[in-house]
Amino acid sequence: MNNIPDILKTQKTFFRTQKTKDVNYRLQLLKALKTEIIVSEQAIYEALKKDFKKSEFESFISEFGLVVSELNLAIKNLKRWAKPKRVKASMLTFPSKDYIYKEPYGIVLVIGPWNYPFLLTMEPLIMAIAAGNTVVIKPSELTEHTSGLVAKIIENVFSKEVATAVQGGIPVATELLAQRWDYIFFTGSVPVGKIVAKAAAKHLTPVTLELGGKSPCIIDDTINLKLTAKRLVWGKFLNGGQTCIAADYLIIHKNIKSAFIDILKEELIKVYGEKPETSNDFPRIINKRNTERLAKILENTNILYGGDLDIEDCYISPTLIEVADLNNTLMSDEIFGPILPILTYETEEDIEAIVWNFEKPLAFYMFSNNKNFVERTINKFEFGGGVVNDLLIHFGNHNLPFGGVGHSGMGAYHGKLGFDTFSHEKSIIKRGNWIDPPVRYAPYSPKKFKILKQMFKWFG
Ligand code: NAD
Repeated sequence: MNNIPDILKTQKTFFRTQKTKDVNYRLQLLKALKTEIIVSEQAIYEALKKDFKKSEFESFISEFGLVVSELNLAIKNLKRWAKPKRVKASMLTFPSKDYIYKEPYGIVLVIGPWNYPFLLTMEPLIMAIAAGNTVVIKPSELTEHTSGLVAKIIENVFSKEVATAVQGGIPVATELLAQRWDYIFFTGSVPVGKIVAKAAAKHLTPVTLELGGKSPCIIDDTINLKLTAKRLVWGKFLNGGQTCIAADYLIIHKNIKSAFIDILKEELIKVYGEKPETSNDFPRIINKRNTERLAKILENTNILYGGDLDIEDCYISPTLIEVADLNNTLMSDEIFGPILPILTYETEEDIEAIVWNFEKPLAFYMFSNNKNFVERTINKFEFGGGVVNDLLIHFGNHNLPFGGVGHSGMGAYHGKLGFDTFSHEKSIIKRGNWIDPPVRYAPYSPKKFKILKQMFKWFG
């Protein structure tokens, strides 16, 4: 059944049966999902390898492992998360018991990108189900094998009235967005994020937008060059540089620039060898169109290292490029590939002029041992989230909210916050009947007014 309005109707009818409000039922679904995912581990690695030659190791740390850990967390904590939370009563509502109820929104649409095609469809699915919603997932059409597997896993675990995957490209996504959902969770590019926000606005549907942008990495002259190069190469070139929170470009202090570039080259050779095209650990670009896009932005640039291309094989080698000014084509859009532009700074004003030239980024990285500089910089710039002296690892802590700000997105998730994202917080006051102070009732009198004012003074 791929009739989209019918899917919605079936899920709405099911949602109204109240079955998903039962926490034990949700737990049963999450446990079944976990079993199916664990059974599919090898198939997940194979699908990711077929889609863009992603290695098993990277598929484990950046997709499978994170999904299983999110499932474990939800299964362990769901009863506690879902319980109405008692909050302090206000003296003005006294006597009462005051609560926050976690209410599922209803029918949720999740649209996923291709770059972490398993993680970025499964994680929202887990938390939407944990929160008691029904879900329709639209995985990316560009990762045929992984998206097909995601659909199969969902089909094996859920009945269509609870969760289903609808596969397809832009026409299918457009039809999905034309429907009225109770919540939309979108991960993808900024331009498509705007299309999603517009579609959501039509029905005032709440939306989370996990987008991208140009995320800077600042390196000052107080660092350990070798350790910094090691961490930078890992975080920039993981997944072939196709990571929303990869460092998009470097801003490095001019005093250490040339020494650092030498060490960076050594590190790249150590990690991927002299011929990265033969390394099993270096993935390909997702498709020919994106490879051509990257090849185009490499034209007429000052390549310091790499720059090797094989369009047919969707291959671009890890590449370092010196960039003298912001008019360079590399600085116009998110790169989303294994190309690292290197800019230089001398003063903090130089950094401001670069960073403030762009929209608020999704991620922000700094390598520095100067605590004052670090604190000042964290507070100065607005961005989704960041790391000092490493890259990407803020994604891996489910106690930290993950999301963008401004053009890099709105809303956040991960861990309990993912559960909260898919839950409406409903305020409930349960009033006691044993006393009923008469002050608020008409007829009002000067005496009652005086008491009322006194109460305000006491209770704020
Ligand atoms: P994309 O925006 O092209 O596609 C994302 C999804 O939207 C796909 O499922 C696609 O089918 C659908 N889509 C594409 N065009 C559409 C349209 N016109 N109308 C409706 N739906 C449409 O993004 P992508 O290329 O798959 O992923 C790369 C982008 O995603 C990068 O910008 C990256 O920074 C961002 N991203 C963000 C995060 C995050 O967590 N913030 C994570 C991964 C990727």
